[in-house]
Amino acid sequence: MMLTGIRQLEMKEIPEPVLTKPNDVKIRMSVLGICGSDIHYYTRGQIGSQVVEYPFTVGHEGAGVVVETGPAVKRVKPGDAIAIEPAMPCWECDQCLAGRHHTCRKLKFLGCPGQAEGCLMEYIVMPEESCFPLKGALTPDHGSISEPLAIGVYAVKKSGGVKGLDVGILGFGPIGMSVMLAAGAEKAGSFTVTDKIQARLAIALTEGATSLFNPLEEDFTSMLKQHHPFGLDVVFECCGQQEAFDQAVEVLKPGGRLVVVGIPEFDQWSINVELTRRKEISIQFIRRQVDCVEAALEMMENGKTDVSNMVTHRFPFADTKEAFDLVAAYGDGVMKAMIDF
Ligand SMILES: [Zn+2]
Ligand SMILES: [Zn+2]
Repeated sequence: MMLTGIRQLEMKEIPEPVLTKPNDVKIRMSVLGICGSDIHYYTRGQIGSQVVEYPFTVGHEGAGVVVETGPAVKRVKPGDAIAIEPAMPCWECDQCLAGRHHTCRKLKFLGCPGQAEGCLMEYIVMPEESCFPLKGALTPDHGSISEPLAIGVYAVKKSGGVKGLDVGILGFGPIGMSVMLAAGAEKAGSFTVTDKIQARLAIALTEGATSLFNPLEEDFTSMLKQHHPFGLDVVFECCGQQEAFDQAVEVLKPGGRLVVVGIPEFDQWSINVELTRRKEISIQFIRRQVDCVEAALEMMENGKTDVSNMVTHRFPFADTKEAFDLVAAYGDGVMKAMIDF
């Protein structure tokens, strides 16, 4: 299913991919979660300097079944249901050697223009390092959700810890929700959540948010002071909006930590000098995640973390365009839409 222009998706018949390296694994896709970044490519044709050259296939939140393995593959065998880690690092550059393979100099990431075609197709080939078997009661949906959930796990890890702390989550899409689930597993003290979509705030409430605000309807920063007069300890910006960034700086207490997870549609953030400096705010940007897929799968496997509220819509593969249009329009209270192959 290929992007062929702005807001254009077309089904095309292409040859099945073949194994080329000894550690290659051929996978039949079971399910794919549509990510906000897929939508950026669909509606704008680019994210920052990463520009789509048509035709191009997006999609990176996938799960599938192994159909064939190269001779060196040990981790999986045909018939195994797996989660697919979309990052394919070189394992040799300075970043990889430093354990930062998510910022690999030669990174190939599924569905990222100029790197690798995505997994919005029936068969793909991935290196075995990208295949994580789905154990126990884990379903293909869990496999697909492990990708955004791993970003939540990683963001919480990079925040320096949230145990017992007052946490803010600005923007409650699938990434905001993933951050909340991960922070909940680390026993955060309270959750203040904002979103402009009422249906998302309703999900946040079921997931245990302690205060909810819709910035379209109320003055979030002044209202927050009634609940947390000293401010919040850690705020996760999960929507890529300048106003959320500014609100975060305003509601953080001195010494507070701002974790920026959202992907903006503009090129430069602006930062309030007075507030960030006087409060000595720490700002941490997040680039996807590294080594957190297994932790995300384990969170779901032991049943401690229930992600069933995340998937709100399902579409058959042939109706992918309908799914993309729904997610792009934030229609019908959509949180995560899944494509079934
Ligand atoms: Zn994603
Ligand atoms: Zn590398």
